[in-house]
Amino acid sequence: MHRQAELPAAGAELLERAAAAGALYLFLDYDGTLAEFSPTPDTVIPDPGVIRLVETLAGLPGVRVAVITGRRLEHILKLVPVQGVALAGTYGLEIRSPEGVISEPAHLEPVLGSLQSIKNAWLRLLAGKPGFYLEDKTWTLAIHARDAGGEDARRVIHRARALALEVGLPKELHFLGGDRFFEVSPTSTDKGAAVARIYSEFPLAGALPIYFGDDDKDEAGFAEVNQLGGISIVVRPRTRQTHAGYALGSPAAVRSWLDRLARAWRLNHPG
Ligand SMILES: [Mg+2]
Repeated sequence: MHRQAELPAAGAELLERAAAAGALYLFLDYDGTLAEFSPTPDTVIPDPGVIRLVETLAGLPGVRVAVITGRRLEHILKLVPVQGVALAGTYGLEIRSPEGVISEPAHLEPVLGSLQSIKNAWLRLLAGKPGFYLEDKTWTLAIHARDAGGEDARRVIHRARALALEVGLPKELHFLGGDRFFEVSPTSTDKGAAVARIYSEFPLAGALPIYFGDDDKDEAGFAEVNQLGGISIVVRPRTRQTHAGYALGSPAAVRSWLDRLARAWRLNHPG
């Protein structure tokens, strides 16, 4: 594990290495990586610049693109309406293949009742509390507290955890958390598992995988791509520990890097 502050920037040398590969598999997180954060996690405002960029990348010969997000699939289908791209929603619980086939986690239907009970308890907990946002992604439930005070966020998230345990947490579910974020989600997947599944189910022979992500839930993606001998790039250097090998400063820097990659790729792979 590295400290983000010590990571080398994903510079020209890395770009050259990527552009010289025989084939590429690009794994892209959405919020905070390709695009700036939206006002709430349920806000769906497609960004024409991001869509054009993904179209460009997906159209390159020998390049496959997958978008891996914690958002539900229904959202990412609207945010990235691009054919030929694999889309993983809710950390890979819902997958749209490059050919457009959607698979959902039917085996998790028995836990939907527990999620509904936790949702009812959390709605009561959050009622009248400004700065908190409850996101219902069908297979997971998340509390966002980015706009709440730090002390408030800690107290409410602590209570939310206790309430979920009181209601009863089936073994198929677990907690994901942070200072300003708390989620109850199935244990059976994370972004690393999503990368592994997409890379093997929709293979591209000899492809070098590269993962771009910004937050702690991307760490499993970084680790998986490292395992596959690929490149991992974290967005917005901070001081937390990370599995990523390189850093970029912002979503704008990611888009610019990918733009330059597309141009270099065309030069190296004509036709
Ligand atoms: Mg993100």
